[in-house]
Amino acid sequence: MLKNTLQLDYMRQSGKLVADIFNHLKTVIKPGVTGLEIDAIVEDMIRSRGGRPAFKNYTQHPDMTPFPGSICWSMNEEVIHGFPSNIKVKDGDVISVDMGVDLNGYYGDSAYTFLVGNVDPEVRKMSDLTQKALWEAIQICEPGNYIGDIGKAIESVLKKQYGIVREFCGHGIGTKLHEKPSIVNYYDPKRKGPKMEIGMVLAIEPMINLGTERIMVKEDGWTVVTQDGKPSCHWEHTVAITRNGPVILTDRGDFNF
Ligand code: MG
Ligand code: MG
Repeated sequence: MLKNTLQLDYMRQSGKLVADIFNHLKTVIKPGVTGLEIDAIVEDMIRSRGGRPAFKNYTQHPDMTPFPGSICWSMNEEVIHGFPSNIKVKDGDVISVDMGVDLNGYYGDSAYTFLVGNVDPEVRKMSDLTQKALWEAIQICEPGNYIGDIGKAIESVLKKQYGIVREFCGHGIGTKLHEKPSIVNYYDPKRKGPKMEIGMVLAIEPMINLGTERIMVKEDGWTVVTQDGKPSCHWEHTVAITRNGPVILTDRGDFNF
């Protein structure tokens, strides 16, 4: 699963495409727009640059409904894997967008939580802290540390204030969207995981709930929601471990601490 310099170059291009699209989405996600409209914009942008939306028609086993969108569009109490719909965005909505792209056989994967207009300050604080937790987790991606240190870093920023989703986790990424290892977002002393090495590429993605960590999957077989109906956020980046330290391949330049 280790990537050489040439493979990392391909992954950089794929990550750049994901980042460029997110930077565009910052200007178009606003009250009145729908998830389906955003989904169409994203699919066009990916295909016009020679890529393929990695989530579209994605399944993990044959009896599963293929995922209908190019993006996951998860509003408010939806945690992840929400379907883009014709519901109009309104002031105060919390929308996490998750996007995977396959460009020349290499994948990029990232998620961003959009806070539309006047969002509850508690939700804003949670989203900011989750982004901070992701940043801290990225900083420890150095050879010699363990994959399990990622969850430890995330938990140490969030403390016990929020529900850290446990059933879903980050992952290795490369010529497949999901590669080994699995990367949990909480500290588990029994789950140290493999040692980090130069050439590893990881998708780190904390999913954090304002209320409890408890979630459920809706009847559509995909949409994950909080059990208590409280909002949730999701931040993700694809990160390469290099000789010069961690490199965020999907960097949008929006970390500001
Ligand atoms: Mg993702
Ligand atoms: Mg991912």
